[in-house]
Amino acid sequence: MINITCPLCLNDKTQLSPVRFEIQAADERYLIKTCQKCGHNFTWFKHEVDIESYYDDKDYAVQDTRKSIFYKIQQFEYNAVLKKILSFKKIPATLLDFGSGKGLFLQFAKEQGFDVKGIESSEPRADYARKYFGLHINTDYYKSGSVFNKKFDVLAMFHVLEHIHLSDNLLENLIQDNLKDDGLLIIEVPNFNSWQSKWAGNKWLHLDVPRHISHFTPSVLNNLIEENGLEVKSSAYFSLHLGIIGMIQTIFSWFGYNGFLIADLKRKKTLSLMLALLFVLPFAILLESVSAVFKSGGIIRYYAVKKNHLNK
Ligand SMILES: [Zn+2]
Repeated sequence: MINITCPLCLNDKTQLSPVRFEIQAADERYLIKTCQKCGHNFTWFKHEVDIESYYDDKDYAVQDTRKSIFYKIQQFEYNAVLKKILSFKKIPATLLDFGSGKGLFLQFAKEQGFDVKGIESSEPRADYARKYFGLHINTDYYKSGSVFNKKFDVLAMFHVLEHIHLSDNLLENLIQDNLKDDGLLIIEVPNFNSWQSKWAGNKWLHLDVPRHISHFTPSVLNNLIEENGLEVKSSAYFSLHLGIIGMIQTIFSWFGYNGFLIADLKRKKTLSLMLALLFVLPFAILLESVSAVFKSGGIIRYYAVKKNHLNK
């Protein structure tokens, strides 16, 4: 694919800003531009890119992490999110996770008593969720319609929206046909306005081009949610795993680090990398916690409620 239109409002090149960042990845060149119509920042590239190959590579390889410290951290974090969801929706409630990956969030939700289903277009990830957690996952690439022939109380989208182009009303279709009229939407994406993003510039971990084609700010995400008939009720900017690791890479970048930390932690865990990580960790936790207080943490997490027709 190539990408020369705004992934949200589909505006073309006639109304785009000057280049914010230029990123050279392997032999390919990407630009970050701002849409002058809706204010959204996105990855612009005019050469043909085989996006699929970027998901098949080693950075995204499926590993069994159930015994790792990362699993425990994610369990702790997702359970806090589920507690928040339970302040809106009581058990028994149905929950659909769009872009459910290996099924971790669904598994934790199931343990809390939710009736869960997932959508995940990556077969290896969906298989992992089925094999290890016994989850029900649909792997068709979503375009429109009701996926499980019913509407859900909760629709979750964790780090999905930055990967997809919202052509053909994808988000609108998903919400209209799969979420109940008073349903809860929970959305989490990287925060392009975060301090870790501003401090790292084009070395920001969550820029992750070309896998990420959208780079959301809180206001653009808020507008997108409201345009789809929902109202944001609660927000959070702190993520224990994705926020802290993003801040660690930002601090590393000040000392000349040029890599992709998630990939390096999977593949080349050298002693010097682990020592540097342990040394930087307390500062990263501190800086990221302060960032989040100022709504400038590495992620944006919105809880939004679908307005029923009577309120429109
Ligand atoms: Zn736009």
